[in-house]
Amino acid sequence: MKVTVDQDRCVASGQCVTAAMAVFDQRDEDGVVVLLDPNPSAELAEDVRNAAALCPVMAIMVEE
Ligand code: SF4
Repeated sequence: MKVTVDQDRCVASGQCVTAAMAVFDQRDEDGVVVLLDPNPSAELAEDVRNAAALCPVMAIMVEE
């Protein structure tokens, strides 16, 4: 699985961190998403898919 994020699109809502905190974080200064792990392991795949689905502005892209 390959994950990318669009920080310009992110509105700092935080759902991705709640869904997959091993893969996503938020910048301290403005809450914009930070990608911690662009190649998450298989056991994190469902959480990452959930994060992408929950993002209100579709700023998370997942390639299987
Ligand atoms: S869920 Fe989307 S908008 Fe919210 S912090 Fe994560 S990437 Fe940004």
